[in-house]
Amino acid sequence: MDSQAIYMYQNNSNGPGPRAPQRSGNGDNGNGNGGPEGGGNGTTLLFRAVLIIVVLLAVWSLFQFFTNNNSSSNAPNAMDIPYSTFYQELQKGNVASATFQGQDVTGKFKDAVKATDVNGNSKTSNQYHFTLSTKENQSLIDLMIQKGVVVQAKPEGDNNLLLNILINFLPWLLFIGIFFLIFRRASQSQQNIFSFSKSKARLVLEDRPTTTFSDVAGVDEAKNDLVEVVEFLKTPQKFQRLGGKIPRGVLLVGPPGTGKTLLARAVAGEASVPFFSMSGSEFVEVLVGVGASRVRDLFEQAKKAAPSIIFIDEIDAVGRQRGSSINSNDEREQTLNQLLVEMDGFDARQAVVVLGATNRPDGLDKALLRPGRFDRRVTVDRPDWNGRLAILKIHSRDVPLASDVDLITIARATPGMVGADLANLVNEAALLAARRNLEAVTQQCFDEALDKILLGAERPLILSEHDLNVVAYHEGGHALTGLLTEGVDPVTKVTIVPRGQALGVTQYTPLDDRYNYAQDYLEAQLVTALGGRAAEQVAFGRITTGAENDLQRVTQIANQMVTRWGMSERIGTISFGESDDPFAGTALAGSKREYSDRTAAVIDEEVKRIVDNAYMRSVSLLTEHRETLDRIAKALRLHETIDARQMREIMVETGAINAAPASYRG
Ligand code: ADP
Ligand code: ZN
Ligand code: MG
Repeated sequence: MDSQAIYMYQNNSNGPGPRAPQRSGNGDNGNGNGGPEGGGNGTTLLFRAVLIIVVLLAVWSLFQFFTNNNSSSNAPNAMDIPYSTFYQELQKGNVASATFQGQDVTGKFKDAVKATDVNGNSKTSNQYHFTLSTKENQSLIDLMIQKGVVVQAKPEGDNNLLLNILINFLPWLLFIGIFFLIFRRASQSQQNIFSFSKSKARLVLEDRPTTTFSDVAGVDEAKNDLVEVVEFLKTPQKFQRLGGKIPRGVLLVGPPGTGKTLLARAVAGEASVPFFSMSGSEFVEVLVGVGASRVRDLFEQAKKAAPSIIFIDEIDAVGRQRGSSINSNDEREQTLNQLLVEMDGFDARQAVVVLGATNRPDGLDKALLRPGRFDRRVTVDRPDWNGRLAILKIHSRDVPLASDVDLITIARATPGMVGADLANLVNEAALLAARRNLEAVTQQCFDEALDKILLGAERPLILSEHDLNVVAYHEGGHALTGLLTEGVDPVTKVTIVPRGQALGVTQYTPLDDRYNYAQDYLEAQLVTALGGRAAEQVAFGRITTGAENDLQRVTQIANQMVTRWGMSERIGTISFGESDDPFAGTALAGSKREYSDRTAAVIDEEVKRIVDNAYMRSVSLLTEHRETLDRIAKALRLHETIDARQMREIMVETGAINAAPASYRG
């Protein structure tokens, strides 16, 4: 109700439309991040902890092993004696026990023996140890049995240190092995578990785009809006010195392929600052908290590199209204919250600009659009034919064109196409020429490439000649009725370049904010709203589905005039307590009825009468000024967009200006 009233020729869902509003894979170049990541801090930390535990356990058990081993095989106070000494004591009958372990023999004497051991030291002990040579073995054992010695034999392997260690440590080896296997599996199948802590943006750390504004065409308004951002990034001090408000967040809004990503990179290129980019969908990960930590990381890096640009593509993936969907996504909300926190957390001196891009701005969370966040919006519209020509020129810079190529014709033949489509067209034409071994790309190549693209497109990219005429007349009808009716907001611009769901748009700019509406203002609104359909009727004698949106609006206004504002004599000055604002575009469905069936019938009749009157007025206006209507429609076909000045010129030429309200004439 405040900024712009827009009447559009609607793209009926069954009818021909320029394209699906969302298109994936729009050939973004440049923000190529992603790719494999090494295990981050999370990996090493967990891994280290487990490793330390394993090593400690191993050391402990090794210690255990050696201490046990020593005490069992070599008693600490046993003396090493020569075989001869043992033999003497055995013959004396002084040996109590003997344990054979391979060639080692240990045991006890009955009485302690003072002997000189193998090292030549004199010692007294009742425990002994000596080493056997195999030959003496059997006869010795016979003698021992004879002397009543308690003889034991331990398996030889017991003493094999290597084997022992192996046996002791096999479980440990197995344990570590299994742990490693599990660990590897886990980190392979779910990379995120351990790799969340570092943002993917790290991989584009030093991305300094060489793209400039000269690589972007057909979006002059958007470029103009972004010049200030470039200025600020170039010389932040200049802005800050005067305490000016820094552009913090700028939202680029427009259909896919119109050059939003390209523009963002061009801003970075023009200002020659680093460019940190990430796509909204990359933030939304399976694990809660990952997206948020990525956001934190991204901003941290950008702040370090200031002045710099952060670019968040497809911001609608994170920025959708919170709690709006049934399966509300905690992760997304956390990410969004983090984004809000980061955008608030800028130091006034930090020259970091956040650019966001989306083709669906309506669903964005209100909090994202508040002052200090994405409070600026730059519209990136589909180009008109001049824009398309400029884009074609850019993309054929490095393509040799044959002399018969007429880019103007191509630009004219491609209404509704966006930059990405045109880049694709040039590319296809060049490929065709290459396949045919031509020296240069010919017009024929372009024609065939266009046919191929149009055939391959899911929805018709380009309307038929007739449909374009219908749209031109429809919008022309809105505009002309607007110009000829007293009390209507001035028409500023008419276009047949598709916008969103609309195939054409007529813009009116209100002179000032209105808080209440006079009856004649509302009636004038009805006349212009019906101007589109009336023009179809006048020019072609039949009507199309394109006026659906207009008709909804008309019905709504007329209904409110009768039931709410008491503007019908038959109903009288009664308000039936309808609270929806017709200009806010809310539907009437679901409102409770507070009146009888008879009254309802009268209301219907009154609404119909008001609408019929407006439609008749519209048709008669356009019939009377048929020539002007034709001229406007023709101009629209020629230029695709015409402004107030061009319309005025036409009206002066045809004399229709004399029928316009005095305020407009003067
Ligand atoms: P969006 O981000 O709006 O979906 P992109 O910036 O990714 O669109 O555009 C994809 C490609 O199409 C660009 O890399 C460029 O080659 C081409 N392109 C799109 N718009 C334009 C334009 N306005 N001027 C020149 N080339 C464009
Ligand atoms: Zn319309
Ligand atoms: Mg993009």
